Amino acid sequence: MSQEKVFITPAEWEVMRVVWANGSMTSREIQNILEEETGWKTATTKTFIGRLKDKNALSAERKGRQYIYSAAISERESVKEEITSSFDKVCNQKIGVYLNDYIQTTTLSQKDILLLIEALESKLEDAPRQIPCQCHKGQCNCQDCQHE
Ligand SMILES: [Zn+2]
Repeated sequence: MSQEKVFITPAEWEVMRVVWANGSMTSREIQNILEEETGWKTATTKTFIGRLKDKNALSAERKGRQYIYSAAISERESVKEEITSSFDKVCNQKIGVYLNDYIQTTTLSQKDILLLIEALESKLEDAPRQIPCQCHKGQCNCQDCQHE
């Protein structure tokens, strides 16, 4: 699934998680799961479903008197989008340090760690010595910026 950039709020993300986990479902089925978890009223869940449909994150198919909703965006692509949009906010030169901060504080399985080591070793072969700064003047204090 390739997708356009879709901004999903934390509340809408709760709805997407239900649909990603369960596949095609009615708003009632989504509601039943979320009511237990979040205490949301039916109208609240319906509002979020409507917004996600408008954003083309959910697709709706009419079946008799009700709609069946399914995910129009993949979980993996959406997570990738979230991470990318976070790292787009900082200087390219700081991404390694911030990624390392995240790795240090998160629990990873041995399998996850081996995957990362393999990815990093293969990237190391073609990695530049330094990454150019792409920041606007006045928004960064890296060495590149101070030379301007
Ligand atoms: Zn910078």
